[in-house]
Amino acid sequence: MAKLHIKKDDTVVVLSGVDKGTKGTVIAVSPEEGKVIVSGVHVVSKHTKARRQGEVAQILKTEGAIYASKVQLYCPKCDKGVRSKVQVVDGKKVRVCAKCGAEI
Ligand SMILES: [Zn+2]
Repeated sequence: MAKLHIKKDDTVVVLSGVDKGTKGTVIAVSPEEGKVIVSGVHVVSKHTKARRQGEVAQILKTEGAIYASKVQLYCPKCDKGVRSKVQVVDGKKVRVCAKCGAEI
């Protein structure tokens, strides 16, 4: 199973596609598929029809999964998507920005 560099609740920036440059919070990760779901990114509409009396037809908007390789961790200090690396600080593994060294 491939290990993703992205975790749930991470803030990421989209690198390519129609949502390029969009910043969002990771809602879910799927290491099996190598995909992530990011809030506000790749929003797809689902049309539902009224099947029973009292129901209304509506359009639901939900986020679709995108490849984790298409997003980078957001570094607040650099104010952009960056590559991250793992550093050991006081015996604990922390993720830091590869550019400025800030913990992210
Ligand atoms: Zn940084």
